[in-house]
Amino acid sequence: MYFAHLPAGYITSKLFVKKFEISKVRAKTFISWGMFGAIAPDLDFIYYFVDHGKHHHHQYFTHFPLVWLVLLLLSLLAWLLDFHRGQATALAFIFTFNGFIHTLLDTIAGYVLIFAPFADMNKPVTLAHYFPWDEGFLELFVILWALYLWKKDQILGMFSKMGSSLDMIE
Ligand SMILES: [Zn+2]
Repeated sequence: MYFAHLPAGYITSKLFVKKFEISKVRAKTFISWGMFGAIAPDLDFIYYFVDHGKHHHHQYFTHFPLVWLVLLLLSLLAWLLDFHRGQATALAFIFTFNGFIHTLLDTIAGYVLIFAPFADMNKPVTLAHYFPWDEGFLELFVILWALYLWKKDQILGMFSKMGSSLDMIE
């Protein structure tokens, strides 16, 4: 998956932002951290250059779904135990949640070591063969969904204007 991680991060952050209003975190900050989490696993590209491309970048720990799942559960636990409902635990949750979603999306689009570091590292897994859409269509769907959420008010306003002008024709 190439282009849809950032829009996917926007979608999940936008869907969660109201639930975390209790943490008094600004919506923009929450969404920004969520979008950063959505691309954080790809920071292993830096190591890819150090390594001179000896490994596929999905072989680094930042692409291990189990790593993100553990971080996500820890951040959720921290948020639940944080009785002050501080901003830091809300931001940690959305960051790690989107990191985890990134690894799932990569599993749909390509190969990921889903049981690493516990299982055989040389057996990457993909869901691409079971998914009814090809990768490009999935990316397009995610991008269009994010655009819709971003411009929802304008889109709905445009349709209601179109509706009222159609009323005038009748
Ligand atoms: Zn990735």
